[in-house]
Amino acid sequence: MIPEIRSTSISSARPQAGLPAPVTTPASAQVASDSVEVRPQSSLERLLAATAPEAANLEAELGEHVPGEVLVKLKSQPPTKSQNSFAQRFGATVLERFEFPKEIYQNFKGEMLHLKLPEGMTTAQALAAMQQDPRVEYVMPNNVYTLDDPPAENASVAPQGASPDSPKVPNDLKPELWGLHNTGQKGGTPNADIDAPEAWAVTTGDPNGPIIAVIDTGVDYKHPDLVNNIWVNPGEIAGDGIDNDGNGVIDDVYGYNAFANNGDPMDGHSHGTHCAGSIAAEGNNDQGVVGVNWRARIMPVKIFSDAGSTNSAAIVRGILYATKNGARITSNSWGGGAADPAIRDAFANSPALHIMAAGNSRADNDVRPHYPSSYDLPNKVAVAATDRNDKLASFSCYGEKSVEVAAPGVDIYSTIPGGGYANKSGTSMATPHVAGAAGLLLASDPTMSNDEIKTRLLEGADKLDSLQGKVSTGARLNVAKAITMEYETTEKPTA
Ligand code: CA
Ligand code: CA
Repeated sequence: MIPEIRSTSISSARPQAGLPAPVTTPASAQVASDSVEVRPQSSLERLLAATAPEAANLEAELGEHVPGEVLVKLKSQPPTKSQNSFAQRFGATVLERFEFPKEIYQNFKGEMLHLKLPEGMTTAQALAAMQQDPRVEYVMPNNVYTLDDPPAENASVAPQGASPDSPKVPNDLKPELWGLHNTGQKGGTPNADIDAPEAWAVTTGDPNGPIIAVIDTGVDYKHPDLVNNIWVNPGEIAGDGIDNDGNGVIDDVYGYNAFANNGDPMDGHSHGTHCAGSIAAEGNNDQGVVGVNWRARIMPVKIFSDAGSTNSAAIVRGILYATKNGARITSNSWGGGAADPAIRDAFANSPALHIMAAGNSRADNDVRPHYPSSYDLPNKVAVAATDRNDKLASFSCYGEKSVEVAAPGVDIYSTIPGGGYANKSGTSMATPHVAGAAGLLLASDPTMSNDEIKTRLLEGADKLDSLQGKVSTGARLNVAKAITMEYETTEKPTA
């Protein structure tokens, strides 16, 4: 695991690497020091030499990362000239400057850069040297991330007659959708579900409602069961090769491909399309499935390649795009690896509520943190997975302190690219149930604060014996209760 690398002030007492080990008597030490011939070095060479032992130690600790690149946060907001001078000091070039606009971000103070290192400089050398620079708040590798999902449970689902006894039932509430409405189909436990039909009696979602960003492998925005629920960028004209709305991306009509940095977030994988369907496959349209929302606005933000891998820079780009373009909720079915201060900063300084998968390695995240879901942020909800009998899924990570709630995540039937449908399992599938519930809450009342949404999601959840000690609420999502429960907007005065 890579520790968060904080800057330290340059210590004048730091010995220069390459000097002989100190000898025992002051007299001989004086002689040894005087006798060393130092050839003229550039200040960068001296710095690299001075930090060589640190770099050697770091090298072993680095996880998989993009070679020759780092992300650095500079403390103040210097003019471009100063960024360039920082890069020049290390022979690096600025690949991109992440925009944290002041009008959106209240807390982020500084400047985040994505740098290309010069030939021959290793990432560990750059980290060790740059953290000595007093302008640096932190510097980190451009970490590599991969999708982490348990193998699909490929049981074919025989449609059975559902007998919903609930207030509002769409014509596409298939029996496969046990997580929305469980009548005991396929050996499940009746009512081990999120009570979607009961919530739909209040609202079924809003085609002009809150923007829900699916930060994932992209979304098949042409899927017949999703096409009417995809966010459309109002300021962009399709296919004219111009960035009409000036948001930095050309022709981003249906979202953003942050991995390739272009305007086409089409999903060539399937993971993101599946998540999108659980949030808001169109309801009651006589086809396919229904999501937690019948109607909604899904913003596809593709951070992964179609092979399912990505890096810190692409993830930060994706989160910033979602925030800059009005996402109110983000759904994040990915994670793992090292703590990543740049990604943490992007989430922390966003006004959106971020729903995050707890991970699929069966680990206790309180002991072995899983990022981003383990970041201690007021605007995140980490989600574990349950099965059709309200048991914690065998693969699911958990954490009494760091995971807030559970949701259905085994044998989840949803949309896949090309107009199809399939079962998938994972905390990846549980997360969009919670993100969808957050969207439904906002559809019922667009003025809800993050605090209120989070409180309703957590306090409205169904407490289960199987989840005690596993998630902080000991409970599985119940969207109907989340919407209908009483919520105190102010603290009661203490007697
Ligand atoms: Ca644009
Ligand atoms: Ca449908």
